[in-house]
Amino acid sequence: MGNALEWIGSKLYTGLVWFEYCAKHPIFGCRLCGTCKLHDLGLTCPMTCPKQLRNGPCGGVRANGHCEVKPEMECRWVRIERRARKYWPKSWWHPRHINPPVRWDLQATSSWLNYLYNVDKHKEEYEEIKAKQQ
Ligand code: SF4
Repeated sequence: MGNALEWIGSKLYTGLVWFEYCAKHPIFGCRLCGTCKLHDLGLTCPMTCPKQLRNGPCGGVRANGHCEVKPEMECRWVRIERRARKYWPKSWWHPRHINPPVRWDLQATSSWLNYLYNVDKHKEEYEEIKAKQQ
């Protein structure tokens, strides 16, 4: 019985991970990193940056604001900043804090559940940001 429940649980979890991927990949280019930063970064996925930078642009942004690796693509960080200024100018969600490194151990897991159960440790991260901003 225990094994059957475990099996059902694992299938449900896999289904949820696929659902999250199917919901977010077409819109945001989600790579299933497991520690979602869309809400922090102007609804722009930092993992779509060819260098996967989570804390600002590299030194290779072109004069037109495009990526040095993919010249046809706007630099993710130019986009993040533009959107954040436009939609969340006063929010503490504005990308002004240092994001922790990518948790590679959480890759291909559900960022929704990781957030819900604080597996990604976002609560501690936000407490630290709030404390610094007071
Ligand atoms: S930050 Fe991670 S979970 Fe969020 S959309 Fe990008 S790859 Fe997906």
